[in-house]
Amino acid sequence: MDLVCPVCNGLYEINVTCDICFKNMIDKGPVVNYLDDYSPYLLDDIAAKVDGAPSYKCVHIYQCPNCKHDKRVEIDRIYI
Ligand SMILES: [Zn+2]
Ligand SMILES: [Zn+2]
Repeated sequence: MDLVCPVCNGLYEINVTCDICFKNMIDKGPVVNYLDDYSPYLLDDIAAKVDGAPSYKCVHIYQCPNCKHDKRVEIDRIYI
């Protein structure tokens, strides 16, 4: 079994609502994609360190298409 983020892997989407205007926010991908100095093939190891979340969480950036507000959402990884 692998511990994976269901959102990164397209297994399902979660609904995140903007704190400001209450629109549905759009998944901009895991936060590690926004860091310059990492190697993609080390994604899992590095992710556990740089985003401050435990390795069983995947932190995604969600952005509101209306007001551009963004926030981090921790997604629980699941075993598949
Ligand atoms: Zn993810
Ligand atoms: Zn908004």
